[in-house]
Parts: sequence; C-alpha cells; structure tokens
Amino acid sequence: MIDPKPTASHFIDGAYAEDDNGAPIPVIYAATGEEIARIHAATPALVDRAIAAAKRALPAWAAMTGTERGRILRRAADIMRERNRELSELETFDTGKPLQETLVADATSGADALEYFGGIAATLTGEHIQLADGDFVYTRREALGVCVGIGAWNYPTQIACWKAAPALACGNAMVFKPSETTPLCALKVAEILKEAGLPDGVFNVVNGAGDVGGALVADDRVAKVSITGSVPTGKKVYQAAAAGMKHVTMELGGKSPMIVFEDADVENAISGAILGNFYSSGQICSNGTRVFVHRDIKDAFLTRLAERMGTAVMGDPMDEATNFGPMVSDGQMTIAQNYIAKGLEEGARLVAGGRRVERDGWYLEPTVFADVTDDMTIAREEIFGPVMCVLDFTDEAEVMTRANATEYGLAAGVFTRDLARAHRVAAAFEAGTCYINTYNDAPVEAPFGGVKSSGVGRENSKEAINHYSEMKSVYVRMGDVEAPF
Ligand code: NAD
Repeated sequence: MIDPKPTASHFIDGAYAEDDNGAPIPVIYAATGEEIARIHAATPALVDRAIAAAKRALPAWAAMTGTERGRILRRAADIMRERNRELSELETFDTGKPLQETLVADATSGADALEYFGGIAATLTGEHIQLADGDFVYTRREALGVCVGIGAWNYPTQIACWKAAPALACGNAMVFKPSETTPLCALKVAEILKEAGLPDGVFNVVNGAGDVGGALVADDRVAKVSITGSVPTGKKVYQAAAAGMKHVTMELGGKSPMIVFEDADVENAISGAILGNFYSSGQICSNGTRVFVHRDIKDAFLTRLAERMGTAVMGDPMDEATNFGPMVSDGQMTIAQNYIAKGLEEGARLVAGGRRVERDGWYLEPTVFADVTDDMTIAREEIFGPVMCVLDFTDEAEVMTRANATEYGLAAGVFTRDLARAHRVAAAFEAGTCYINTYNDAPVEAPFGGVKSSGVGRENSKEAINHYSEMKSVYVRMGDVEAPF
C-alpha cells in the first residue's frame, strides 16, 4: 500500500512548494475518519508565484509544435497507466471510493484524456478562406493564455486531467486548484507531467479552499476558468470571471431523469439505475437520480432492484471485493442523511437502505425511495449521495414534461426497446448528455457537459478544443487598397 502523504502542499514551476503560513487542511480518509495527511492552503504569495510561473512558461510552450506538446501528454498517459495501482490507491485515500472502481475509472480516465488530446494536438489548425480578387483570410488557432482549473472532490485525478489535457494540447498553461476535500491526486498528476517532459510552470497545482479559487479567478493574468462544482459556486465563479471578460467552462450539478418505459429490458434498466445512483456512493454529477418507472412495471422493477441491492458489498474500500464505499466526508454524509429525513417527512416510501452503517468512516446505505412525487424536496434538489428516487408515470408526453421541469440539464437517460421512441425522447430531453439503454458512460471521445443551470461549455472530445483556444482571422489583400478619399 502507498503512503498517501504528499511531498508538499503545492506544485509550482516544476517543483513541490510549501508555505507553512497557509491555513492547515487535514486530509481525512473517508473509510476510517482518520487524518492521513495535513497540508497548508496556498498563501497569496504562492498563488502569485503559480500564476507568474504559468505566465512565464506560456510563450515557449505555445510556440512548440502540436506534435511536440502531444508527445509529452501521451508520455504522461503511459506513465499514468504504468502506475495505475498506486494512483488508484491514492484516489481511494483521497475520496474513499472503492479500489474496485478507482482501478478502472480514475487514472485510466485521466490517461485517456492525456492520450486523446496528446493525439490531436498535432492536428489543430486554422483554415484558409478565399475571397474575391485573390484576397484571402487565414485563421490561426491560438492558445487563450493562463487557464485556471478548479476541481470538485468526487473525481480528483480525472477532473485535473480532463482540464489539463485539452488546455495544454492547445498551448495554454494552467494553474489547477483541487477541492480542499481531496487535495492529493492532482499533485501526482503534476509530478507525472513533469516526469513526462512538461516544461516547468506549464501545469501548477495550488491547494486551498474557495478563497484560493476566488483569488485565481480574479487575477488579471488569467484568461480562462474551468470549474467543476456545484451550481451556487459556479454562479459566483461565472460572475467573477465575467468581471474580467474571461472565458469559462462550467461543469456543475444535476438532478437528471432516467425514464424506464414498460417495454424496457428491466434487468438492464436496473443496472443503469444502480450505476446511475450508487457508483461512487452516488457522488456523481450526471447521476440519474429521478428514476421515472412506467406504472405497469413499477412493482417488478422495485422487487428486482431490492434483490440486487442486497448483493452490494459494503466495506473496506482497499479490498477489491468491496463495491460500495463510504461517502467522501462527514459533511457530505450529513447532507445526504438530512435529505433522507426530508424524504420520509414528505411521505416518500423507503424501500431500501436509509441508515448510516455502524462502522468507522462515513458509510451510508444505498437508499431507494418509491412513490416519490415531483414536488418533494428529494425530487427537486441535488443530493449528491446514494439516494435514488423512483417516480411513477403512464404517458410519454407527461413524463417528458416532468423530466424537463428542472433548472438542471446535465444528463438524462431512457430505457426502451422502441427505437423511434428512444430517439424521440433523447431529442426532447433538455440535457447536454443523454443515454439510450445505458447510463453514465463518459468516454473521452464524446462531448460531456450540461445545459440550463448545469453548465456552460463541454469537456472531452474535439469540442473541448474550442473552449481552450480562439481563432484569429488574418485578412490579406493582394491588390491595391481603395479608400474614399
Ligand atoms: P463546490 O461547488 O463546493 O466546490 C467546487 C470547487 O470550487 C472546490 O474546489 C472549491 O474550493 C471551489 N470554490 C468554492 N467557492 C469558490 C469561489 N468563490 N471561487 C472559486 N472557487 C471556489 O463543489 P463540491 O462539493 O466540491 O462538488 C460537488 C458538486 O460538483 C456537485 O454539485 C456536483 O454535481 C458537481 N460536479 C459536477 C461535475 C460535472 O462535470 N458537471 C462533476 C463532478 C461534480
């Protein structure tokens, strides 16, 4: 087993950095409640150093060819894959997620992003636009400058890579601030990028809470901010970025619908509902937490769901047999417990779970409520915990109206064997990421992101390139310039 203690609290200009004057941040292992490391939040001087380092590194990095930049990113992807086990153990220490998950979903997903964007870095070009009389315009795809990445705590390795990989591929430099709850993994990403040959200062990590994030967003030297977090935080960051007319990518929260029609393969639909509510102990932004089940199959669905939930293996996340781990923190568990109490109070029927597990750490049973109605708090607000709400419906038009009646629009899923209906429903969903007969896949090749309050912009895929670069148009006149006088 690895030692989770980091070399130091921050990674700036190609080296670990420390300043003990920063507020202490204890790192708590969710499976035991024990402190496994203690770091210090970045002081204003360190924030300044990180941005200055990024700014300094920028011109040379942006001037390299895409092939050269891509080679470094792809080398980093290889190192991440070679070290998957130790990185997965670190991810488990950071978040409490079971090793069974982290071995296949975190460093591997980060490596995919580094490999994908490393691969397309060399293909990024502008275009040539022919005009009359031989005149023409060519466009240059240029880096934005210093980008700030701000992470949530549920996927600390993946989030760092999903932001760094496209940013760096385009020739930007980045200062990344992890969530104060999970400060460890991004430091390793920085270390690996350096080992892969990344020039000093191109990717920096500063730890700290919202105030450190706020200082980064407000800095005049920063051209773009990409945040993964809650809607209220996203609104604050969007406003602060707007004051400096900065580009933004907002990956925010959700309350996504999953619709199970009467002709669905029920076993697959239940798999989707389990993945979309209990993977990572329910702490996934795109989760399908409002499960609308057609009245004709509701009883069969609930009976079989309860049976399958009985096979969840809750326990030590470092044991690879464990498939359901603790919540990330005491605070997040309390939030989920309060929602469970609210569900009971407002008349939802508890069909599974609902209680804290009697053991050390922040374990909450996977919980299912049935007979949930649209007006209940648990059906309206993002819980970000292992709480599934099952709602009934009878009619497609009715369920579509209800599914879309939310300020959120991150993801949505439909289970049906009727092909025409599947595509009709997908088209009608007000969501950025939709699923037909599956749920929560997030391959790097496809755009990921939300509409409405759930976000602005897209991560992953070629689409992310547009959010980390901008086009300069260069007009070229071949003849004389005509002027009125
Ligand atoms: P959060 O909003 O509390 O914090 C997110 C990050 O923002 C943290 O690093 C935090 O320190 C920082 N922050 C807080 N205030 C700030 C400010 N004023 N200025 C700058 N930075 C500030 O979110 P969380 O609790 O860490 O994560 C859970 C939330 O993230 C959920 O709502 C979840 O849906 C969302 N999420 C979204 C996605 C996605 O891709 N759409 C992925 C994962 C999580």
